[in-house]
Amino acid sequence: MKKVLFVLPLLMMIIALSCSNSNKSEKPRIAIAGIAIESSTFSPAVSHEDAFRARVGDEVFSYYPFMAPDSGIINRAEWLPTLRGHAMPGGIVTFEAYESLVTKTLDMLKEAMPLDGIFFDIHGAMSVQGLDDPEGDFIVRIRELVGSDVLISTSMDLHGSVSPRLAQHTDLITCYRLAPHEDAIESKKRAVTNLLERLESGKGKPAYKAWIPVPILLPGEKTSTRIEPGKSLYAQIPDLLDGDRVIDAAIWMSYPWADEPRNHGVVMAYGDDKEAVGKAAEQLARRFWDVRRAFEFVAPTTYLEEALEKALASDMKPFIISDMGDNPTAGGAGDVTWTLHELFKHSALQKSGKTLIYASIPGAELVK
Ligand SMILES: [Zn+2]
Repeated sequence: MKKVLFVLPLLMMIIALSCSNSNKSEKPRIAIAGIAIESSTFSPAVSHEDAFRARVGDEVFSYYPFMAPDSGIINRAEWLPTLRGHAMPGGIVTFEAYESLVTKTLDMLKEAMPLDGIFFDIHGAMSVQGLDDPEGDFIVRIRELVGSDVLISTSMDLHGSVSPRLAQHTDLITCYRLAPHEDAIESKKRAVTNLLERLESGKGKPAYKAWIPVPILLPGEKTSTRIEPGKSLYAQIPDLLDGDRVIDAAIWMSYPWADEPRNHGVVMAYGDDKEAVGKAAEQLARRFWDVRRAFEFVAPTTYLEEALEKALASDMKPFIISDMGDNPTAGGAGDVTWTLHELFKHSALQKSGKTLIYASIPGAELVK
């Protein structure tokens, strides 16, 4: 009897050891999920589920060129793509569309469990009927499902908003450093490789995160990083990173076309060194605040009449006039007909012999 008792713990020990060994050699199990849109609450337009053109399963990989078979990234994990949708900017998302997309995602995540990590790929400026901070709601519901041990790495647009609960429930977080967003794919890749490194090294969750709200809210037309002060503000970020001490830092300009408490600038940094993380975030937030009055529109601004006079006098082709107040690329409906009306009755334009393209008119019947 004594022998049996001795053998049994020994066997259990061997089983336990072999389990931990095999876990170490296994690749991390990482799910991919996220829905992305910037949706204006000041637009009469409404966005439905089909606007997201959601891709599921292996189709999700097509969003990410860095996950190509020869990328060196695809082989580093057991990827479990669930649902990812990306809509063009538009009006507020219906509650039904949001619930449907979130429920489908949660069901697929449940199927994919157990998980080591999640690549959470969102925009951050989604507005949903009857719900504040949808991205915060979404990540809380993911956490409730997968638990607190799973590492979540969130990738965002710099025009997104980071609520305290989104900051709290994500472990790693980043956003674009360029506007226009020429580094969108590079930023998503950074979110993925930082997640992989934390999982592969066994270092897991970064020890510290800093979240600093900055009470500034700029129109997108003032947030270009091709001109100052955005250019040097964002250019500081790489110099503040310091291996595991400060893994990443980011600045969110947020989104002015939604009226929620979360819509304001935010700076975040995270890493394993408390002091360095705090310092990096504080430096960026301080700089952002200091230059707040220096942001300018990327093009001259004026009234329509003066813009038309300039256009008629100019030899430049094409001469582009943008109606910022009804901008479909920022969620506007593009259905304000005032400008169209003014153009039709503009005699100097009619007599000039110049041609004009008016884009866009969201009414198929009217165009016919
Ligand atoms: Zn953006």
